[in-house]
Amino acid sequence: MTERRLIIGGNWKMHKTPSEGVHAAKALRVKLINVSTVDVVICPPATGLVPIHAILRESNIKIGAQNLYWEDEGAFTGEISAPMLRDAGCDYVIVGHSERRHVFGESDDQLNKKVKKAMSAGLKVIFCVGETLAERNNGEMQTVVKKQIQLGLDGLTPAGSRDLVIAYEPVWAIGTGVTASPTQAEEMHGFVRHLLAKQFDETTASQIQIQYGGSVKPANADELLSQENIDGALVGGASLDPESFTAIVKAAEKITN
Ligand code: PEP
Repeated sequence: MTERRLIIGGNWKMHKTPSEGVHAAKALRVKLINVSTVDVVICPPATGLVPIHAILRESNIKIGAQNLYWEDEGAFTGEISAPMLRDAGCDYVIVGHSERRHVFGESDDQLNKKVKKAMSAGLKVIFCVGETLAERNNGEMQTVVKKQIQLGLDGLTPAGSRDLVIAYEPVWAIGTGVTASPTQAEEMHGFVRHLLAKQFDETTASQIQIQYGGSVKPANADELLSQENIDGALVGGASLDPESFTAIVKAAEKITN
């Protein structure tokens, strides 16, 4: 059994109004009340953060944002800063989700600024990496992920990495219903840990939680989460239903206990 705690994250993407989010958070607060051995974080849209934090503040469920900007304040219409997220109750922020990279064109350099700013404000970063289907078919998955890690985490110290979680999310598995096999995922997670050892050191790398993301559901959670280097899941679609998100958290809890 690993010493790393498993961490299950729910990325709601652009789903749920604030009142729908509050409703789901109330359900999760009840369903997950006894969970203490697994880290749980949900990432609602920005408009839901404050009311959902009010529901979950006394619970074991943390909240995270899905994005941030790297300046603290100023003339950046539409953006939200790290201090604003902290004040809204966030402990976590997702940086570099594939939709931010591929739909919104965020570069490794921009993501690196976001990672550093988030950490300097006291946010834990869930940093997403992963290859597209074409890149996998060309056998480029390690080259792609290596570049994303090296550039995205450039300048971070081993001490800073205490606030770092990596999410390996193959783009071809996100929202597609196609999951990486446990073997494919474990292979990439082992590789990511090897990269982290080069970037920081072996001890630091052995402590960083590496989540898998890509069509995780109650039916496949157990097998994925049982892999040595898979320390949790970042869940999109299945996190929208409190019932199925709870089932994934419980699968993690069962492995931990
Ligand atoms: C995600 O949004 O990070 C994700 C993994 O989505 P899904 O679980 O729907 O594939």
